[in-house]
Amino acid sequence: MRIEVDTTVCASHGQCEFVAPEVFALDDEGKLSYVAEPGPEEAENVERAVRACPTRAIRIVG
Ligand code: SF4
Repeated sequence: MRIEVDTTVCASHGQCEFVAPEVFALDDEGKLSYVAEPGPEEAENVERAVRACPTRAIRIVG
C-alpha cells in the first residue's frame, strides 16, 4: 500500500503514531515522518490511523 500525508494540515497530535508506530513517527519538534509504502501487515494499523487523524491528513493512495 502507498500513503500520503498532507503536512500542511498535520497538527502533530500523534494519534497516527499511537495506532501505527511502525509507520508514523514524530520527532522532538513535532515533525512527522512516515513510511510511504508500508507492508501489508501494517494495512489495518494504517486504516486506523486514517480514521484517528483529527485533521484527515492521511490518505491511502494505492
Ligand atoms: S494524526 Fe494526523 S494530525 Fe496527528 S500527527 Fe498524525 S497525520 Fe498529523
